[in-house]
Amino acid sequence: MSGNTDKNSSAKSIGILGGTFDPIHCGHLHIAQAVQQQLHCQEIRFIPCKNPLLGKKAIANEQQRLAMLQRALIPYPHFIIDEREIKRSTPSYTIDTLLSLRREFHNIPLALILGSDNLAYLNQWHEWTALIQTAHLVIVPRAGCTVTYNDIIQDLIKKHQTHDPALLLKQSAGLLFVAAVKPLAISSTAIREEIAHGSMPTGLLPSSVLDYIQEQKLYQ
Ligand code: ATP
Repeated sequence: MSGNTDKNSSAKSIGILGGTFDPIHCGHLHIAQAVQQQLHCQEIRFIPCKNPLLGKKAIANEQQRLAMLQRALIPYPHFIIDEREIKRSTPSYTIDTLLSLRREFHNIPLALILGSDNLAYLNQWHEWTALIQTAHLVIVPRAGCTVTYNDIIQDLIKKHQTHDPALLLKQSAGLLFVAAVKPLAISSTAIREEIAHGSMPTGLLPSSVLDYIQEQKLYQ
C-alpha cells in the first residue's frame, strides 16, 4: 500500500486529523496549519470520532461537536470536516478510516497527524501495525508532554522516520515524520475544566466556538 505516487512533481498529500474535538481549539488549528504548509497538503480532513476509544467519553454530543467544527473551520478553505466516523455504526477505529480513505484516494499520500501523546500508546490501537502501511504518520509535539516511548514505538520510529518532508510526497504511506511545530499548551480537557470553574477560556479557541458553547450551556 506504500507504493510510489504518480511521477507528478506537483503531487500533494491529504492531511488527516482525527479527534474527539470536544471542543475543537486553537491547538488543533495550529497543528493543521503547520502540517498543511510543511507537507503541501491539498486539504486537511478533520475527522471527529463517533465515540472516543480507550476509555475516554465525549461530553458534547455528535451534533454539537460537528457544529463547533463547522464554526471553527469557516476561515480555512482547505480544512474540511469528514463525517465518515460519525456516520459509521462500527467503532471509530483509525485503521478502518484510513482504509476507506485509501479506497477513495488511491495513491495520494495520506498523512495521519498525531500528537506525541498519542504516538506514545499507538501500539494499543486496533490493528496498529497496519496504520503506517496505509498512511504516513506525522507527529506533532504536545506541550508539557514529556513521553518516553516504549521499545515497540522506538522501533517503529527507527524503521520509518525520515527528516525529509519531500519524501512524504513521493510515496503514499510508510514514513514517520516529526513536524516542526511550536507546541501550544492547549487541550480540550483544560478548556472544559476552565468553563466548569466559571472562567472564560478566551484565546484558546475561536470566539465563534466559545459563543456556541455558551449558547448550548456546554461543559458547565
Ligand atoms: P482531550 O483533552 O479531551 O484529550 P485533546 O485536546 O487532546 O482532547 P483531541 O480532539 O483528542 O483533543 O485531539 C485530536 C488530536 O490532536 C490528537 O492527535 C491530539 O494529540 C492532537 N492535539 C490536540 N491538541 C494539541 C496541541 N495543543 N498540540 C499538539 N497536538 C494536539
